[in-house]
Amino acid sequence: MYRNYKRIFYIGSFFILSLILGFSNLFSLPKEAIPKAANKITVEKIKTSLSINLPKQSNKPTKSLGLVEKSNDQAFFKEIKIKYGQGLMDALLDSGAYRVDAFNAVNSLKDHFDARKIQVGQKINLYYSSDGSIDRLEMQKDFDNLIIVQGKQKNYSSVNISLPSQVITRHVFGQIDDSLFLAAQRKGLPQIIIANLISIFSYDVDFQREIRKGDQFEIVYERKLSKDGRSVQEGNILFAKLTLSGKEISLFRHTPTESGIVGYFHEDGQSSKRALMKTPIEGARLSSYYGNRNHPVLGYNRMHKGIDFSAPTGTPIMAAGDGVVERASWYGSFGNYVRIRHNGTYKTIYAHMSKYGRGIKKGVRVQQGQIIGYVGATGRVTGRHLHYEVHMNGTQVNPLTLKIPSGIKLNGEEFQRFRAVIENKNQIIMEIKSNILLTRALN
Ligand SMILES: [Zn+2]
Repeated sequence: MYRNYKRIFYIGSFFILSLILGFSNLFSLPKEAIPKAANKITVEKIKTSLSINLPKQSNKPTKSLGLVEKSNDQAFFKEIKIKYGQGLMDALLDSGAYRVDAFNAVNSLKDHFDARKIQVGQKINLYYSSDGSIDRLEMQKDFDNLIIVQGKQKNYSSVNISLPSQVITRHVFGQIDDSLFLAAQRKGLPQIIIANLISIFSYDVDFQREIRKGDQFEIVYERKLSKDGRSVQEGNILFAKLTLSGKEISLFRHTPTESGIVGYFHEDGQSSKRALMKTPIEGARLSSYYGNRNHPVLGYNRMHKGIDFSAPTGTPIMAAGDGVVERASWYGSFGNYVRIRHNGTYKTIYAHMSKYGRGIKKGVRVQQGQIIGYVGATGRVTGRHLHYEVHMNGTQVNPLTLKIPSGIKLNGEEFQRFRAVIENKNQIIMEIKSNILLTRALN
């Protein structure tokens, strides 16, 4: 009963707050745009400073998806979807287009889109004239871009239109009862944001040993909404804080002018990034230490030159540091195996994986925190786990006792700029919190 009452109170507050701020368009969103739980725990704030480069036409959208005026001679419309093994040209022909039209329409796309890279499932709106020729083709290339092809026969031309969107800032906080992942999920944080959150803290926090019941997390991140409210894209984490056993660790997003490489920094200007992460996996239990042990399969005593993490099959494994993939293939008793060369000194090894991360193969450059594979039980194993090794100058070392070099530290003018970033983030959080108080006062 009380819970329900509380829920209604929060939803009510959220509604009134939205009315005050004039964000009624938030309510035109489909259900999945804002997770159910979000009503209770987040306050959304539209970033007013955002400037979007909109073409003039976008202010008067026509009835179709398109933002460009249509001709009057549009006899019929078809929505097609690229099927497996189908090219754009085939799809147009299958939908009934004349060969010359299809050819010229695809040809005119060149400036904005490489038709060879079309993806399965890509939707295309086709408008035909009464004589059966293609009058217009619309294709949403990605979240921000719509391509429109228009014309007749040999005179097809295409334009790329930036779709209007707005960025809202979401603030979520919660208590951890089991794992950060589950706690964040219960609070309605989308998976991709949770993965980023874990990744940015992975240099400071040993997720399988340092998380206690009652610890807390707080996050401010961006979400992009299309103007029609139909699509959502999660954006960057601006600020995140973990309170572990009473100790606070805050990270702020900042791009140092000199390097131009965005990163996360502690309040004192120390970057969160290090040469290697403490743990390349979250929510896992350390099941076997570095050193002598009885080999579980071979039965004799032998040196275990890595550490094992027990985790459910499919748990993502992250690259412990920036580097180049030296090997990503089956390797005898190691099963599916990845080896990353981080620099002249360090390499890391990940074994027994169920599958490889997207695009992970020999020679590919990976970033710290990038998913390189998933926990499995391939090779000579008794059960699913990640076998992880760190090699220093060609020999295995104990990852748990390794002294990890720290990253960069901001100072001088750069530190002053960073302090301004912190001020700005604190301002956002303060505003959100005072809005909550204002809403309560009104109630
Ligand atoms: Zn092992």
